[in-house]
Amino acid sequence: MLNPVNILLVTVLSSIMSLAILGSLRPAGIPGVSRWIGAYVMASIAIVLAGMQRMGMPFLTVLVSNTLLAIAVTRALEGCREFFGLAPRVPLAWAGCAAVAAGIAWWYWVEPDLGARIALISVFHASIYGAIGWLALHGRPSGRPRYSYRFVTWSAWLGALAHGMRGIIYGCGFVHQTTLLDSTPFNVAYLALGILVLPALSIGMVLLAHDRMAERLERLANRDELTGALTRRAFVTQADALLGAARAARVPLALAIIDIDHFKAVNDLYGHAAGDRVLAHFGRVMAAGVRETDLFGRLGGEEFALLFPATVREHAAARVDALRVAALSVRRTADHAAPVHNMPGVDAVQPVHDGLTFSAGVDALDDGDTLTSLMARADAALYEAKMRGRNQVVSARAAVPRDAISAADDTKIS
Ligand code: GH3
Ligand code: MG
Ligand code: MG
Repeated sequence: MLNPVNILLVTVLSSIMSLAILGSLRPAGIPGVSRWIGAYVMASIAIVLAGMQRMGMPFLTVLVSNTLLAIAVTRALEGCREFFGLAPRVPLAWAGCAAVAAGIAWWYWVEPDLGARIALISVFHASIYGAIGWLALHGRPSGRPRYSYRFVTWSAWLGALAHGMRGIIYGCGFVHQTTLLDSTPFNVAYLALGILVLPALSIGMVLLAHDRMAERLERLANRDELTGALTRRAFVTQADALLGAARAARVPLALAIIDIDHFKAVNDLYGHAAGDRVLAHFGRVMAAGVRETDLFGRLGGEEFALLFPATVREHAAARVDALRVAALSVRRTADHAAPVHNMPGVDAVQPVHDGLTFSAGVDALDDGDTLTSLMARADAALYEAKMRGRNQVVSARAAVPRDAISAADDTKIS
C-alpha cells in the first residue's frame, strides 16, 4: 500500500541496491564515487531512523535522522562537484546542515512547530538538489551524450520542486500536520516525489560514472597515447563522417597533411626517448592551435593530418602556416637533452635554429572526392613542400611559380 512507511522502505531498499552498483564502480577511481557511496550509506541510515518515528526516541528519529540526511545530500553535492572537476567542499552547505540541526532542536524541544521544521528542511534540500541539477546541466563534457546528465538534472530538479513546494506550503501554514508519517494525500505525494529523488539520483550517478568509463575507453581506443592526436583509424572514421556532412550541406572543407622535417636527426642526435618527448610536445602545441571542431590525427610516425570543416583552402593553408610558426617553439633538443652520439654527417641536417619545423600540403574538398582522393592530393602537395626545401605549407591548387617563394620569407605559404 502507498503509505509513508512503505515509501521510506522502498527508498532504503533501492538505495542499498544503488550502493551495491556504486561500490562496484569504486575501484575504477572515478572522482566523486566514494563521496556518493558515503552519502547513500548515511541517507539509508537516516531514512530507517525517520521510519521509526512512531516508536518515539525523537533525538534519534527526528534530530539525528534529519541532520544525517542533510549531511548525506551535502556529500552527494560534493561528490558531484568532484566528479565535474570542481573543488568539492561547499562551506555554505555545511552551514546549512548546522542550521538544519539547530532549527530542528529549537522547533522540537524549545518552541515545538512541525511546520517550521518541515519548511527549514525542505528549503535546504531544495537548494542542494537545485545545485546538483545545475551542475549536471552545465558540467557535461563536450561531445558526451546528453542522456545521463539530463537524467540527473531532471531527477534533481524534480526533487527540488517537491521540496520547494513543501517548504512554501508548510512555511506559509497552508497545511497542518502532526507527524512526518501522516497518510494524507499531500504527504504521500511529497514523499513519493521528494524522497524517491534519492534512488533516482543514485541511478543518475551510476549513469554518470558509466559515461566517464565509456569516455576513458573511447579515449584509449581513439587517441594516440604519445601525441594526444586521434589515431589513424579514428581520424579516418571521423573525417569520413565530416566529409559526408560537408557534401550534404554543400559547405567547404579542407584537409592538410603534415610531416615533421628531419625528424630522424632528432632521434639520431638525442635518442628515441628525446624524440618521443618532442613528438608529445608537438602534439600539445597542435592541439592548442586547432579549433574544437577541427580533427587532428596521427597518420603514423611523424606524419599528421588536420581536417578543417567549413573552411576554404586558402584559410586552411593560413591556419596550418600559423601552426608551423607555433611549432617553431617546440625545441628539437627535447628540453636540453644531451646529444647521445656524435654521428658524422648528422650536422648537415641540423636546422639553423632549434625549433621544430614541418612541411604541409593542403587541399579542399571537390565534387566527387573521397577521403582517399583528397588525402592523396594533400600528400602530393606535401611532397612538393619537401621538394621546395621544407618548412613551408603548399596548397595543392596554388599556381604560384616555385621561384616566387623566397627562402627567407617567414610566411611560407604557396
Ligand atoms: P623528412 O624531412 O624528409 O620528413 O625527414 P625525416 O627524417 O623526418 O623523415 P624520415 O621518414 O626519414 O624519418 C622519420 C623518422 O621519424 C624515423 C623514425 O624513427 C622517426 N619516428 C617515427 N615515429 C616515431 C616515434 O613515435 N618516436 C620517435 N622518437 N621517432 C619516431
Ligand atoms: Mg619527416
Ligand atoms: Mg615521414
